[in-house]
This record gives sequence, structure tokens and C-alpha cells, in this order.
Amino acid sequence: MINFSSRILILSTTTGYQLRSFGEAAQALGIDLVFATDRCHTLDDPWRDGAIAVRFHEEEAAVDAIVAAASERPLQGILAVGDRPVVLAARAAAALGLPGNPPEAAAASANKRLSRERLARAGLRVPEVVPLTTAANIEEVAGRLRYPVVLKPVALSGSRGVIRADDPRELVAAFRRVSALLARPDIRALRSGLESQLLIESFIPGDEYAIEGVLTGGRFTPFAIFDKPDPLDGPFFEERIYVTPSRASAAAQQAILDTVQRAAAALGLTHGPVHAECRVNGDGVYILEVAARPIGGLCSRVLQFQDGEARRSLEHVLLVHACGGDISRASRESPASAVMMIPIPARGVFRRVAGEDDARGVPFVEDLRITAKRDQLLEPLPEAGSYLGFIFARAPDRGQAEAAVREAHARLAFTITPAIDVGIG
Ligand code: ADP
Ligand code: CA
Repeated sequence: MINFSSRILILSTTTGYQLRSFGEAAQALGIDLVFATDRCHTLDDPWRDGAIAVRFHEEEAAVDAIVAAASERPLQGILAVGDRPVVLAARAAAALGLPGNPPEAAAASANKRLSRERLARAGLRVPEVVPLTTAANIEEVAGRLRYPVVLKPVALSGSRGVIRADDPRELVAAFRRVSALLARPDIRALRSGLESQLLIESFIPGDEYAIEGVLTGGRFTPFAIFDKPDPLDGPFFEERIYVTPSRASAAAQQAILDTVQRAAAALGLTHGPVHAECRVNGDGVYILEVAARPIGGLCSRVLQFQDGEARRSLEHVLLVHACGGDISRASRESPASAVMMIPIPARGVFRRVAGEDDARGVPFVEDLRITAKRDQLLEPLPEAGSYLGFIFARAPDRGQAEAAVREAHARLAFTITPAIDVGIG
């Protein structure tokens, strides 16, 4: 049962849909929410009174600010939304004696190089890894690798800067491209301290899955395994569709879940939301990532839970969990669901979209949200990491859900005009 005086702190860089969803769930549950945000990165400021202003790159001071605020308004739990505040959330939870991940485990999960080391040490399958920096002699490195490889920055997310290379020449070109991306002012402004670090990994062929769930005292409770039905073979790795339930065999699904559990333990993660990604081929399950945060933004709407007659959002279930409530009865609703993250087809300025009503009319399509703003400069991967919008479908089976988002997408026509190049970084 939830204690009605519960107060949960949400740490977030963004102010979008997911926070509104947390707000609605909190209201329904009678939970008080406190937000902490890096205000200088938010354009609009919808924060209520009492939001704690922090700088995510000044962790010491941010922990102090949270502890000070909590002495006046005691907290029962802390949730990180998005990659950026994961480590701060862990540190604040530790400082306040609240359930959370050990800070060094959160730090390892947020750093691709440390993650790989820990997973490999625990005997999990991981790609071969060559760490390097943007100052490396890439021609020399490129000459002694086996291909294909994947080049990636240590500290970005959303597949930004992740590029496949099939030979040394492609790797050198990819390296220059990622280095230029990492030199951009907006990325340096994040001050992650890892801006110059890269990894080269062996390319792992196979089917890719995303896994959503929570850890409670180290034990993983899965909510869903999502198939990513479009092949992700590179050179860039744009996520397009998530569909659940998975097509994988029961045995493969069990192997995936077991591997996520082992990976969380290897990283030292113990408590709170988990979004994991893996690739599966004839060798077994390769963990790509275990992030100590929920699936991001609007995408979380693809998950809905059934609680008696009521439908609950992922955010609702995560708040119950953060309050120490029992979530074992939260079963995933409706037989199948899918989300399409509408890809950006080309770099340019977003002018308009036609066909929205038509797309909404596709059977099983539940919602369509265009999130790109008119006149916004759009950049596709590998440089940029956003989408034009999202299409959601719920259907009796996964084939119908997947087909529905594809059909809706086919009915949309986006007008994107060439950008006048003044340089954006
Ligand atoms: P990010 O944190 O930016 O999401 P990931 O390491 O998860 O970075 O990589 C993004 C995507 O790139 C993955 O979802 C996968 O499709 C692809 N990818 C990354 N590493 C490999 C690899 N070693 N082999 C094959 N594909 C990979
Ligand atoms: Ca990823």
C-alpha cells in the first residue's frame, strides 16, 4: 500500500510528455512530486514552485542542494528520467539513505567503456572493444583491426555518433565525423567529462531487442521485451519500431531476461527502472547496454498496464515502485503494441506534414504525435538524435500493431526544405 504522505524526487533534463505523465500519475496516487532540473538547459519553464535547481555537471553541489531540500520536505524515493541524471540520482539516494543504485554502479552503467569491462569480467558476452580518444592516430589503429567494427562515443546516447565501418578507410572517415560531432559546443556544454572518449567495437550481427523493467533489491522484474523488427545493420543505427510481445521463442526470451539480470548484477545495479538493449545471434545474447532509467519520453506510452479495470502508465507503475509499493500485479495490458519513432529522412528545415488525419484513421493506430516544431532544423543520425514524432498502435496481435504503425507512417508526407548552411556546431 502506498503511504499517502509519500514524496518522490524526479531528476530530469527535459520538460516533456514523460514529466506530465509522472505528474498525472502522482496526482492519481496522492503522491507529492518534487522536481530537480538543470534549468539552464530548459527552454520553457513549466516548473512548479519548489523545483530544485541543480547543475548536473556539478554533482557535489547538486547532491548538497537535494539533501538540503529534503531536510525540509522529506523524500521517500528518487527517480532519474533520461541518461544525464542517472549518477546524480544514485548519489542523492545514497546521501539520503533512500533505495537506489550504488553511485559507482550508476556511473558504470552510464559509461560504455566501464560497462563493457564489467560485463566482460562477469563472463557475459560483449563485443571486443578498443578504447581510444579523439587524439588517437586513427590510421595506425585502423590498420590492425578486424572488420566490420562499430565506432561510438562513450558518453552520448540515442545512437548519436554510432557508425559502422567495414574497412580502414571507412573507419578513418567515421572517426573524423564523430570527432567533429564531439567538438560541437552543444555537446561540450554537457560537460560529461567524457567528450573525447570513443570505443571501437567488433560488429555483432543479429536481432536486436529492448527490455524494460525494474530492479528491486537486485532482482529484475521485466515489463516487456520489444523486438526491433527493422534490421539495424548500419552504417547508422536509427531505431524505428518497437513492438511487443516479442517474436523470439520462449527459450530465447528467457535467455534475454536472464542475461539482463546477470548484466545488472555485473554492473552492480540494484534498484529502480532499467532499459536494456541486446543483440541475439547463434552465439547467444550480447548485452549492448543496461541503463538505469526508464524508456525515454513519449516512447514510454507504448507500455500500458492493467490494474483491475484501470489502465496505468509506465510512470504510474514506476512511482508505485519508487514508493516501495508492490508492482507484481501490474500486468501489461492489451495483447500487442507498437511504436514507430518517425525517422528524419534528411537534414533540413521542417515545414509541414500532410496526411495526419489519414494516418490516425488506420485501424489499431491509437495516437500520432508530431514532435518536430515548424521551422526547426532537423538533422538525421549520426549527428542528431531526435525524431519527427511518434506513432502508437495497440492491436490483438503484434503483426497488426506493427503493420498499423507502418501504414500510418506511409500516409504521412513531410515537407523538409534544405537548410541554409550557417553551421550548427
Ligand atoms: P547509444 O547509447 O547511443 O544508444 P549503443 O551502444 O546502444 O549507443 O548503440 C546504438 C545502436 O548501435 C545499438 O542499438 C545497435 O543497433 C548498434 N550497435 C552498437 N554497438 C554495436 C555492436 N558492437 N555491434 C552491432 N551493432 C551495434
Ligand atoms: Ca542504446
